[in-house]
Amino acid sequence: MAFWRQDAQERLQKQLQIVNKVQQAKNIIFFLGDGMGIPIVTAARFFKGNITGKWEHETMVWEEFPNFALSKPYTTNTQVADSASSATAYLCGVKANRRTLGVDSNVLIGNCSTQMNSSYHTSSIAKWFQDAGRSAGIVTNMRVTHATPAGAYAHIAERDWEDDDAVTIDGEDPNFCDDIAEQLILNDPGKNFKVIMGGGRRHMTPSNVTDVEEGRGGHRNDGKDLIAIWQEEKEALGVNASYVWHRDDLLAVDIENTDYLMGLFAYSHMDYVVDRDPQSDPTLPEMTEIAIKMLQKDQNGFFLLVEGGKIDHGSHANMAIRVVTETVEFDEAVQVALNMTDPEETIILVTADHSHTLTINGYPPRQNDILGIGDVSDVDGIPITTVLFGNGPGFRFSRPDPSDDNLHSKIYRQDSTVPFTSAHHGGEDVGIWATGPLSHLFTGVYEQNYIPHALAYATCVGDGATFCD
Ligand SMILES: [Zn+2]
Repeated sequence: MAFWRQDAQERLQKQLQIVNKVQQAKNIIFFLGDGMGIPIVTAARFFKGNITGKWEHETMVWEEFPNFALSKPYTTNTQVADSASSATAYLCGVKANRRTLGVDSNVLIGNCSTQMNSSYHTSSIAKWFQDAGRSAGIVTNMRVTHATPAGAYAHIAERDWEDDDAVTIDGEDPNFCDDIAEQLILNDPGKNFKVIMGGGRRHMTPSNVTDVEEGRGGHRNDGKDLIAIWQEEKEALGVNASYVWHRDDLLAVDIENTDYLMGLFAYSHMDYVVDRDPQSDPTLPEMTEIAIKMLQKDQNGFFLLVEGGKIDHGSHANMAIRVVTETVEFDEAVQVALNMTDPEETIILVTADHSHTLTINGYPPRQNDILGIGDVSDVDGIPITTVLFGNGPGFRFSRPDPSDDNLHSKIYRQDSTVPFTSAHHGGEDVGIWATGPLSHLFTGVYEQNYIPHALAYATCVGDGATFCD
C-alpha cells in the first residue's frame, strides 16, 4: 500500500507543478510513430521495462510530457486511415482520400488530371515554416518518398507514384504527372529542405546507374539522376550541400559549414533494428541528432519531421518483436530531441498516423515477457501469446501450441484471427503527446487535421489564427 500511495503522491506533486507556457514557440520537432497505436505503446513500454528492470512501471519518454490528447484518424472516404491521407491531415490540416497526399478530397485515388490541378493542392506546415523565413527538414527510416515524409512536400493522387516508372505502370503519363521523388528534389518546399534523411535511392536514380550498395539500377526511366540534380542545383546557388549514403560519412559531415544535407542510406527502406548493419547504417537517434544540429543553425526556428516508420511494417508483418524494438528506438530518438532543445522555445510532439490490430491478451502475471505466453485457453487448453493480431500473415488454420515456437526469433509472427498477406491498420483513435510552449492546445479529443493548425498557432506561421495576432 505504501508504495502505491507514495507513487501517486509524487505524481500528484509533479502534476501540480505543471504550468502552461503561454508564449510563442520557435521550433517544432514532430515525431510520427507510423502505426503506433496505444496498444503498441503499452507493449513497447512493457518491453522497455523488461530491459531496464522497471517492468510495468516504466514509461516511454513522451509519456512524461505534460499534455496528452487523442487524434481521430478516419479519412474522407474510409473509417480506417492509411499513412498518406493521415499525413495530409496532420501536416497539411485537411482530411483527404485514402492513398492521396497533399491534395484535398477533390483528388480521387490514382487520378492524375485532378492531381495536377493546383487549386486542389494543400500545403504543409513545413512549407508554412519556409514561407515564414524558417527552416524545415525530414528524417525517416523509410524511403524519403514514402507516405509519411511525402506528406510534408508532395501533391499526389497515388502514394505509390514514388518515381516515373510507377506512374507509367498505373497507365498515367509521367511527363504530365510529376512523381513524388521529382517533387521532392525539383519543387517547393522539398528542394528547400535543409535536411533530407532516410532510404529510397532507387526512386532518385535512373535504371542504367548501378546503385552503390544494391548492385542494380534505380527505378527511373526518364534518365533523371535526382541526387546529381540536387547537388548541381545547390552548387549553382553557391551553397554548401552534402550528399551521403554511408553512416561514416554522415557522422563526418561538417555541420557548421554545410547548408543542405541529404542522406540516403538504403536502396529502398532502411533496415529494421533487428536486421541492421550498424557499420553502414545510422540509427534513427543518430539521424535525429544530426538533423537537429543542422536545423538549429537557423536563428529564426525550424520544423523537423522524424518518422519511426518501421513500427508500421513490423505490425503489417505480425512480428511483435519488430514492433517493440522499433518503438524503443523511436523512444531513444525522442530523448535525443529533448536533450538537445530548450523547452522554452521548442514544441516536441509525438503522435501516430493510425493504429494497428495488435492487442495485449490474457491475464499474464506481472513481469511476464511481453513476447511470451500470456494465458491458456479454457476451451481447447492450448496456450496463447500475450500479443495477438486482429488479422494478417500470422493466421494459422490449426492452432498449434505457441509454447513450442521460438517466440524470440526475429521473424516470429504472433497468431492473427483472419488471414491477409499484410495485416491491416487499426481504426481507433491514436495519442498525441506534447511538450513546450502552448502544448496545452493538445488536451482533448480532436480531428487529426487539427494538429498543424494548433502548431501553426503556437509558432506564428501559416494563414490561420496565430498567437502573434
Ligand atoms: Zn501501414
